[in-house]
Amino acid sequence: MNNDNNTILGFDVNLICDFFLNTERQGPGSPEVTLKALSFIDNLTDKSLIADLGCGTGGQTMILAQHAPGKITGIDFFPGFIERFNKNAEKLNLQNRVKGIVGSMDDLSFEKDSLDLIWSEGAIYNIGFERGLKEWRNYLKPGGYLAVSESVWFTDQRPAEIHDFWMSAYTEIDTVPNKVAQIQKAGYIPVATFILPENCWIEHYFTPQAKAEEIFRRKHAGSRIVEELITSNHREAELYSKYKAYYGYAFFICKKRILTEKVSE
Ligand code: SAH
Repeated sequence: MNNDNNTILGFDVNLICDFFLNTERQGPGSPEVTLKALSFIDNLTDKSLIADLGCGTGGQTMILAQHAPGKITGIDFFPGFIERFNKNAEKLNLQNRVKGIVGSMDDLSFEKDSLDLIWSEGAIYNIGFERGLKEWRNYLKPGGYLAVSESVWFTDQRPAEIHDFWMSAYTEIDTVPNKVAQIQKAGYIPVATFILPENCWIEHYFTPQAKAEEIFRRKHAGSRIVEELITSNHREAELYSKYKAYYGYAFFICKKRILTEKVSE
């Protein structure tokens, strides 16, 4: 959600990251969904260069690495996640082609037109969907792919409570057709899009938070701010269960279009 003043929903980003160090993943998703998105990508070889932006501790990166050839660079701005990421890569003996680096998705140092694939699960909101599409496109080879998951509305209208929650969290949440139009306008071919199933939220995101909460409560015994963070996480889970007919996450697989005319602004 938006990162102004280094807060998310009013909480210090470092505190949130510390909490999520103890979870399997830091956003909704699953190994099955990562592989489904990967199935639409057909340009990868041993020489391919892949970036995973906002990689977190690398849950999805390791799945990607085990099923796709090429070198993967994970970028995340939280050093604790990158440390865990590189340990995970080593455990799986992937360290020769999977490397995590501390950095920011809005200040990338890749060469222009150099990447075969940019991956980003549940993280593009940090830069904003349209800005990410536009800026990251520069680093892709012509015909290269961008695969991102992002929050979407399922309906044109929705109850005020959930609308207001999202407007305070991430105003760029939009319907799938509107997102696809943005993808097309930004100079990509929208290759595929699909909605993440419910288990990506419940089994892989909300449920594993219980263990992280226990660890966190022990570490910060008596901290009011930690209790507030936990309450806020519970509220998010409750809102999801109440309003999941109205919103969720979608994966978008986009291919950098070779332009024959200027991209409209
Ligand atoms: N892709 C992971 C993590 C998603 S959570 C998963 O699906 O599990 C979003 C991630 O974006 C967090 O790890 C957070 O530290 C990272 N992040 C936030 N702002 C960032 C920025 N400006 N540059 C790089 N990473 C950022």
